[in-house]
Amino acid sequence: MEIYEEIARIIKQKKHVVAFTGAGISVDAGIPAFRGGQGLWEKYDPMEYAEIDAFHRDPEKVWAMLREMGDVILRAEPSPAHRALGAMEAAGLLDGVITQNVDGLHQVAGNSNVIEYHGNHMRLVCENCSARSPFTIESTKVLPFPRCDRCGQPLKPDVVFFGEQIPPGAMIAANHHASTCAVLIIIGTSGAVYPAADIPFIAKSKGATVVEINVSPTPFTSSVTDHFFSGSASAILPAIIGELGLKSE
Ligand code: ZN
Repeated sequence: MEIYEEIARIIKQKKHVVAFTGAGISVDAGIPAFRGGQGLWEKYDPMEYAEIDAFHRDPEKVWAMLREMGDVILRAEPSPAHRALGAMEAAGLLDGVITQNVDGLHQVAGNSNVIEYHGNHMRLVCENCSARSPFTIESTKVLPFPRCDRCGQPLKPDVVFFGEQIPPGAMIAANHHASTCAVLIIIGTSGAVYPAADIPFIAKSKGATVVEINVSPTPFTSSVTDHFFSGSASAILPAIIGELGLKSE
């Protein structure tokens, strides 16, 4: 299609292309968005289950939700949109991915420069001694919750809970990419969560071309977006990379 051709041309021309992703790219991978429908926040009140003080107060209660989320993520496979981004990096047409997702699927799909703005659920961290270990099926089976091998404290997925800071390294790297990229491709994110939602505004203010792929318009669409594609990223991204002469499988 002609519109995909034009985006493919822009991506090829510009030298520094970065993707900025959110929950929408993982829906086709089997991970429902947190809010609405099958979302976790419809079942678990985030202020009771995703707030850092709540975790410290009652790790056993919060682990009921973490276990369920871990099960969903462990079963998930990269979507066609994840694979398209992997193919773009392999072809030298994508410099990095800034993601708000915690599922680790960009790495599974072959992206090596992934900035995890909100952490990664597939790692466990001990807040006491900073030991990190993989989150596995076994971790979901430990009752009442997994503890640190070294110091015995409760382990927590290495994700940013409400009330916690964005990891400074991730924030610096994300802002750097946003400030220097020539094209920012927004994929599956509604721009509701700050400070992540600043990223497209930073990119635009530094002169980047902003491409947006979302099911419906967002606060970005009328403010910073140059080219808006309405629909599923799993349909649109493979079509765009097809115009680049790439296949995602
Ligand atoms: Zn420890």
